[in-house]
Amino acid sequence: MTYLSKLVCVFSIFLVGNWAMGAGGKVSQKISDQNVVMAVHAGLGIEKSEMTPAIEKQFREDIEKALQAGYAVYAKKGGSLDMVEAAVKVMEDAPEFNAGKGAVFTHDGRNELDASIMSGKDLSAGAVAEVTTIKNPIALARLVMEKSPHVLLVGSGAEQFGSEVGVEIVDPSYFRTEQRYKEWQQMLKEEEKAKTGPRKSSLPPYHTWGTVGAVALDTSGDLAAGTSTGGMTNKRYGRVGDSPIIGAGTYAENGVAAISCTGHGEFFIRYAVAHDIISLMKYKGLSVQKAADEVLLGKLKKVGGEGGAIALDSHGRVAMPYNSEAMTRGYITKDGKTHIFLYEK
Ligand code: ASP
Repeated sequence: MTYLSKLVCVFSIFLVGNWAMGAGGKVSQKISDQNVVMAVHAGLGIEKSEMTPAIEKQFREDIEKALQAGYAVYAKKGGSLDMVEAAVKVMEDAPEFNAGKGAVFTHDGRNELDASIMSGKDLSAGAVAEVTTIKNPIALARLVMEKSPHVLLVGSGAEQFGSEVGVEIVDPSYFRTEQRYKEWQQMLKEEEKAKTGPRKSSLPPYHTWGTVGAVALDTSGDLAAGTSTGGMTNKRYGRVGDSPIIGAGTYAENGVAAISCTGHGEFFIRYAVAHDIISLMKYKGLSVQKAADEVLLGKLKKVGGEGGAIALDSHGRVAMPYNSEAMTRGYITKDGKTHIFLYEK
């Protein structure tokens, strides 16, 4: 080997090694994570002890269906907003997830839904919160973005707008499922117990899972992101989390990335998580993986902010870090291959 070829060899090893290192020197960007056109999540997963083969199978099927719905739009050269809306709708309709049908119960026994969507092309955005009769809140969020001069509409006003623009309206009972009802009852019991005994965890009673979200990159290079949720079980006083808050639960900016988050919303709002990932990429030049790791595994973990995010950059590189036990998630590449994960890091 000549001196020059040795030098080239050492330099290439250095380059590849550096590229593969995530925050804290951990390997986090795999070659298979390239060429991604869409990623989705269905929130923080169930604890392994509570998972059954049947639920796991259902989760994987739902994620596959959502990815395929988005990919069908992509394959026809559709836009990233349409990809996101198509994928999120599938997950809102899946009763297993905490969005649309199957949303968690509030303290008053209602199902109050939040959603947001954002276009990376022109930073336009739409969101709704506390709606109880809109079958697919992501569709209404999109209409807020496209057919109103506003970004966020809440409660009965959002619903009135929904009926004016012709979105599908359902009876509130449509969203209720037996499983969510049981979880709510369980949480009420735990809350009662916590009044008399010491709390086991420093976290609030938050055992919910299943918020959904999607990020997409279309053939024109436009990014989009969307998130939809029922929020946190037993929420009260009109509590709204990060999912409908642009910059907290959702953000997209062409040339940078599209982000959708899940987790303990109060932390995601306070730490402006989605936009913080964008800022680290934009101003500090971090890769999508390093930026997302720094926020989720660094800043948030340090303060007990449980959650995760999916982040897709403008080159089709995806990062999906989470600091809890599991996050249901998957992505699809240009060639239509899907990759689905539950507990696997
Ligand atoms: N982030 C949602 C909220 O706080 C909940 C979740 O993602 O699980 O409302």
